[in-house]
Amino acid sequence: VKYHGKNHYRVFTALSEGKSIRKLTIEKDIHTVIRENQLEIFYQPQVESNSGRIIGMEALVRWNHPTLGIISPSEFIPLAEATDIIFAVNEWVLEEACKQQKEWMEQGLHLKLSVNISPQQFYHQSDLTKKVKDIVNTYKIDPTKLVIEITELIAIHNMDIAMEKLLELKSLGIQIALDDFGTGYSSLSYLTRLPIDEIKIAKEFIDTLDEGTENQAILHSLVKLANDLNLRVVIEGVETEEQYKKLHLLSCHIVQGYYFSKPLPAKQVNQLLIEWTTMY
Ligand code: C2E
Ligand code: CA
Ligand code: CA
Repeated sequence: VKYHGKNHYRVFTALSEGKSIRKLTIEKDIHTVIRENQLEIFYQPQVESNSGRIIGMEALVRWNHPTLGIISPSEFIPLAEATDIIFAVNEWVLEEACKQQKEWMEQGLHLKLSVNISPQQFYHQSDLTKKVKDIVNTYKIDPTKLVIEITELIAIHNMDIAMEKLLELKSLGIQIALDDFGTGYSSLSYLTRLPIDEIKIAKEFIDTLDEGTENQAILHSLVKLANDLNLRVVIEGVETEEQYKKLHLLSCHIVQGYYFSKPLPAKQVNQLLIEWTTMY
């Protein structure tokens, strides 16, 4: 193999280090993702299980890459976190989602809006609270309808700092949700120690719902515990009617999953909101 120029050589070394061309492309192009306006937010409805009404949306970012197509956040967020671009991505998502929420508000829809934040962003963006405050003020959105979703990894990393930052965020009036509850590192003590308003029970619990009564019992206890602690419960990853029916028996608060709707672009989710409202 002959090499023509430095770039070829670089690609070869990177490839020989086991990086795929896809990964290299993503790492290279991530730097211009904001400038080229390639990010898009999809929204997934959250449904109140008693009434069947849509009461909230989770903002889930996607990257419309010119050659690779839609790239999932699980693939590009970790790579964005290796660079400073993550801060711009984070801010863009927050602002864009709040803009959308303002539109909903003006249509008389007072939806809860959930935005994800990774441990990296949480710990390293020193002006996070200020950014959130500025955006909330600019778009005049109701802070009590804004939910920041964090994971348990945040608590594990440094409980004291986590606590301080969460209280700072909560002083704006916004709410905190603990995402993916029940996976990996879970400790029930986070539920009482951290200033959280909502827990999102991980999809794993729903997946095993059909496998036996033990899993139903665990889910049941988690929901009861959350209720007793006055925490709102969101059950994620509900895919079938059967699962939904089983959850209904648990007096769960809120459900989210493909059974109701996949995450959709703003236009389509707005259409869904119109259809849904006339259905219920
Ligand atoms: P997550 O916060 O746990 O989001 C739920 C994921 O499950 C989403 O994947 C959603 O599309 C998917 N999902 C929802 N309902 C179902 C279902 O019924 N069945 C199945 N199989 N999947 C379902 P998505 O959108 O690919 O996002 C993946 C992860 O990327 C998110 O997990 C979140 O941790 C992260 N993420 C998404 N948007 C952002 C963002 O703006 N910032 C940050 N930092 N992370 C984000
Ligand atoms: Ca989430
Ligand atoms: Ca989740």
